[in-house]
Amino acid sequence: MESVSALQGRVSARVEAQTKAGARVTERWRKPIIPLEIDLHPSEGIELPDGRVLVNPIFTLDDEQVERLRLGYVCAKCFEPFEHAWPVRCNACGAPVRREQAAYFAREFGGVAPLGSGLNLNDELASLEERRRKREEAKQ
Ligand SMILES: [Zn+2]
Repeated sequence: MESVSALQGRVSARVEAQTKAGARVTERWRKPIIPLEIDLHPSEGIELPDGRVLVNPIFTLDDEQVERLRLGYVCAKCFEPFEHAWPVRCNACGAPVRREQAAYFAREFGGVAPLGSGLNLNDELASLEERRRKREEAKQ
């Protein structure tokens, strides 16, 4: 649980760092996980006394990204890619990947894409494409 702006800042900092790393090194395993979309869980928000709202994020990932997470090649907590699957700890955030990530994955993903919209992943991808097309059309 963290604030939305903190989360977005963290994700874009990581994407930027990995994009820079990717320009230097071309190993396939380093390919960053970039969520197709980040949504906020509609029912899990907690409002703090100071007015900030903490929410659980929902990441929309494509099939390949989900496989990399499932197979232990990417940290489920911070999306750091690993050269070798299942390190004891994530070298970026220290998460106990080898001990806990499989259970975490099973709990969070449950074999179904964790999407707030109720669409399955393929429908969601189709709707993202549809929205993208509409945006493009609107520009013309
Ligand atoms: Zn990590």
